[in-house]
Amino acid sequence: MKRRDLVKAAGAGALLTAAGILAGCEKKDAAPKAIEGAPAISLGKNFEWKMVTAWPKNFPGLGTGANYLAQLIGELSGGRLKVKVYGGGELVPPLEVFDAVSKGTAQMGHAGAYYWKGKAEAAQFFSAVPFGLNAQEMIGWIRHGGGQELWDEVYRPFGLKPFPAGNTGVQMGGWFNKEINKVEDFKGLKMRMPGLGGEVLNKLGATSVSLPGGEIFQSLQSGAIDATEWVGPYNDLAFGFYKVAKYYYWPGWHEPGTVLECFVNQKALDELPKDLQAIVEVSCRAAYDNMLAEYSARNNLALMTLINEHKVQFKRFSDPVLRELGRVSQIVVAETAARDPLSAKVYQSFDQFRKGAISWDKIGEEGYSLARALTFT
Ligand code: CA
Repeated sequence: MKRRDLVKAAGAGALLTAAGILAGCEKKDAAPKAIEGAPAISLGKNFEWKMVTAWPKNFPGLGTGANYLAQLIGELSGGRLKVKVYGGGELVPPLEVFDAVSKGTAQMGHAGAYYWKGKAEAAQFFSAVPFGLNAQEMIGWIRHGGGQELWDEVYRPFGLKPFPAGNTGVQMGGWFNKEINKVEDFKGLKMRMPGLGGEVLNKLGATSVSLPGGEIFQSLQSGAIDATEWVGPYNDLAFGFYKVAKYYYWPGWHEPGTVLECFVNQKALDELPKDLQAIVEVSCRAAYDNMLAEYSARNNLALMTLINEHKVQFKRFSDPVLRELGRVSQIVVAETAARDPLSAKVYQSFDQFRKGAISWDKIGEEGYSLARALTFT
């Protein structure tokens, strides 16, 4: 569907919703009644969807982001499309949500695209690429740089339509119980890190694992893994990793602006009238913006709590470590791109966008950050 048509359809939806309100709905989820003397408007059938997620139910930022999306769709549609959210493991295990929506067990899923690298290598480019695009650049590439069309192409064989539906912003480098002073210190380490970042660690002699969030704390506590990354201060404080790990490293070289996704079963989407299809899309946009805003605000507060209350030791990876991680990341990403023609096509688009983004960032965002640091540190 063309964006122009979606906007038109969204306008129609707003009118219909407004008609429902004018008709004097007693409850927002009640079916709108006809207005006396007004032309009859057929609002069609109602829909009830399931949204399966890769997150613990109501988990701050990610789970609540999925809840927000479902709530928005319900409200904007005047209750004509109701979405029930399931936490990871409630209906299907967290890392099986892609298959569940592909098969139609649920109509909608909320997760991160790098979880699906075993199904489609190219999916990883739409969540996080080590030394790739930051949050602002990712959405620029997806919405206005050709990324969305490529993402559609990657998910089409699975009968899924993807939407960006959240972003955590830049993540942290992870929790360790030993210092990482040189790149050799990764050797022999069993670390939770999904996606391309995990493959970089493997090349350095570590063993990466892709555990769902809900299993990380216990694995770190029992010694099943030696180190982990998850998200950033807001989420990592919620999981209490400071209780079982000594050092908290930055920056999150492997996830510079991770996109969270909502994918919809294409057949289910096609069955919706056009205004409800538009409501699904604009709700994902709103959920994306809301999640990024929430992380921006809450990471600051959580950072202070981790420093002042829990006395966490923050450490920055040294320049030589980051340079080596960058060098190996280039190799891993290029190898991924070479595995199939679609990955190559996505990588080419991504890489080209990154070149322009770096040029602008130097004089744009980075230029400003450095200027601000001269006065405020
Ligand atoms: Ca992460």
